[in-house]
Amino acid sequence: MALNGHCMCGAVAWAYSGEITRNLVCHCTDCQRATSAPFTAFLGMRPDKLSWSGDIRHYESSPNTFRGFCPSCGARLYFRSDRWPAEIHVHAATLDDPGEYRADAQVMMRSRAKWLDRLQSIPVHEDFQQAPSTATP
Ligand SMILES: [Zn+2]
Ligand SMILES: [Zn+2]
Repeated sequence: MALNGHCMCGAVAWAYSGEITRNLVCHCTDCQRATSAPFTAFLGMRPDKLSWSGDIRHYESSPNTFRGFCPSCGARLYFRSDRWPAEIHVHAATLDDPGEYRADAQVMMRSRAKWLDRLQSIPVHEDFQQAPSTATP
């Protein structure tokens, strides 16, 4: 399988040619903090079949666990840990075509944001909301 991706500003790009080991949504508190989002989605890849271009920084979010990001736009790029040395988890949102992504598992459900349960029952807008809602959070 050949896939390509990039960060928000385009300074960092990746190319992958290999099997996808996982397609998972992570609800852990570290992913929530790292991405400033309630959850994130990953593609599991073989590190030796993944190539990067551009300047990348990383943050060691726990011992021997690294979260890569673009220093220009701040977009999160990957998670890797010595716990899973044969894999690197690339953020699915960085895919050139993220609409093609299909998650097949959710992990760390014990820390899933409770308000996600409400999403199906609140008003939706195809575009930006035109006027501020008067609803209380
Ligand atoms: Zn960038
Ligand atoms: Zn996580």
